[in-house]
Amino acid sequence: MNETRSIWDYEDIVERSLLEDLELLAEHISGRVLHINATYSGGGVAEILSSMILLLKGLGIETEWNIIRGDDAFFSITKTFHNVLHGRVNGAVEVPVKHEPVSVLDDLKSEIGELTRRKEMFETYLHWNRINSEEMDLNSDFVFIHDPQPAALIDVKQRGKWIWRCHIDVSNPDPLIWNFLRKPISKYDASIFSTPMFARPDLGIRQFLVPPSIDPLSDKNIELSQGEIDRVLDKYGICMDKPIITQVSRFDRLKDLPGVIDAYKLVKKRIDCQLILAGGVASDDPEGMGVYHEVMEKAYGEEDIHVLLGSPPFSDIEINAFQRASTVIMQKSLKEGFGLVVSEGLWKGKPVIGGATGGIPLQIINDVTGYLAHSVDGAAFKIANLLKNPELARRLGEAGKEHVRHNFLITRHLKDYLLIMLSLENPSGTIRL
Ligand code: UDP
Repeated sequence: MNETRSIWDYEDIVERSLLEDLELLAEHISGRVLHINATYSGGGVAEILSSMILLLKGLGIETEWNIIRGDDAFFSITKTFHNVLHGRVNGAVEVPVKHEPVSVLDDLKSEIGELTRRKEMFETYLHWNRINSEEMDLNSDFVFIHDPQPAALIDVKQRGKWIWRCHIDVSNPDPLIWNFLRKPISKYDASIFSTPMFARPDLGIRQFLVPPSIDPLSDKNIELSQGEIDRVLDKYGICMDKPIITQVSRFDRLKDLPGVIDAYKLVKKRIDCQLILAGGVASDDPEGMGVYHEVMEKAYGEEDIHVLLGSPPFSDIEINAFQRASTVIMQKSLKEGFGLVVSEGLWKGKPVIGGATGGIPLQIINDVTGYLAHSVDGAAFKIANLLKNPELARRLGEAGKEHVRHNFLITRHLKDYLLIMLSLENPSGTIRL
């Protein structure tokens, strides 16, 4: 990927002084930057990296983006890690069934079985990290490793500053899995968490707090004409004659799609409206298709619920059009990392109702940029309120757009990364620009 993008393309969107800062900081970064995660598409990390890489290159910084590979067993293990690191949510995370022992011997056997299973799981994880470390060129000045999947690549570190960029909420993790991952993660030069609530007291390395961001110039977020929006909705057989409630998210249990359907059904009894659930299945997520089928079953017989599976993935323009066609945007997650779709919705001037979890409360200031929902009933009440009050919806949407402009755009994110790189290179604390 040799494309680049100039930061000056953002001149009409953010303050000039921020762009000048970026140029100044970039001049002081020397060497190669490498980002590694688990997928080029699907999910927020890939979304951010697609823009971040272009902009780093545009600033003249040599930058590479690589993904790790693994077999089904590896990705199913890393998905389990993802679920249990996020902490348990009633009914949302599958917990391994432990059979009731009938005797002390049975009890012992079952414990040994569990220990063997975990040992195999950790071995498979390390095995694939080892394979990737042999295949990849990790010889870089700054290596950003995103999330747990490639975290153990650090074991072969020879040079450079290594940064573990955590996008998920690890504030209340399963202790066993966290203790396993903590060993490699503690070897990094620094870690980055999205919000103060996610930071860990037990890592013993420097921790930075950097909220994620969206790119206002990506196809996902650029302005669209009404004609372009209509064309996309036509393609999916959706007529704009009724208000649209939309949730764009991967088919993942933690996104609580059944909860969104329940809230919609409550609203639908009183106000005629329609629901779009648009999402895909990330290549590193073996559970996605199962969740999609559960959602289809729950939506069965409801002609105003449009469950859209992006397979092949929806284009960014299509996602953009679904969001821009909406009256209300939902992100009713039970657990969330940051929740980029919330910023995407707010940037489009839409009121967003989100679960009060992860990074969503950073973006949704209750009653100012949207609403936080704590239950299905609460979400339904807020949706109905917004559908009945277009002026309220407009006020929240406008405030939301400004909130995103000042806090959650890629240009701010880029500045944070450049500052972190400089501060790691200058551990004495003095950076002369
Ligand atoms: N997304 C997409 N197509 C889909 C579903 C999601 O492009 O079918 C995008 C969505 O617009 C957002 C990102 O994937 O940019 C999801 O990021 P978020 O932080 O909301 O959730 P994650 O998937 O990382 O848990």
